[in-house]
Amino acid sequence: MSEDTIFGKIARGEADAKIVYEDDQCLAFRDMFPAAPMHILVIPRKPIPRLCDAEETDAALLGHMMLVANKVAEQEGLGDKFRLVINNGAGAGQSVFHLHMHIIGGRDLSWPPG
Ligand code: C5P
Repeated sequence: MSEDTIFGKIARGEADAKIVYEDDQCLAFRDMFPAAPMHILVIPRKPIPRLCDAEETDAALLGHMMLVANKVAEQEGLGDKFRLVINNGAGAGQSVFHLHMHIIGGRDLSWPPG
């Protein structure tokens, strides 16, 4: 669970990604297999495997990731029409065990997501 992942490599600049935003705490890049016209992932530089592995000391980082998502959505021209998703654990569809927040938009989004 704590081993290195492709997202860890992207965060360290060791693997390519189409990065749309980065700062000292996190980065955002285009999903390689987009589920919508706009599908971007926000990841922390810190390798937290799953959301449920985050600790109290990560509170500011988690809040920052959400504000980065706002910034990226605005940058991408999504206005107020976008969705944030975090799949937590394999049973919920998580396939890369480095915390990431999906920003999905650019099409109508139905609910529940399935
Ligand atoms: O939430 P989950 O772990 O399933 O999401 C992983 C996401 O990472 C997928 O949407 C997948 O398309 C994306 N991915 C990527 N680049 C990779 C491997 C996975 O954008 N090299």
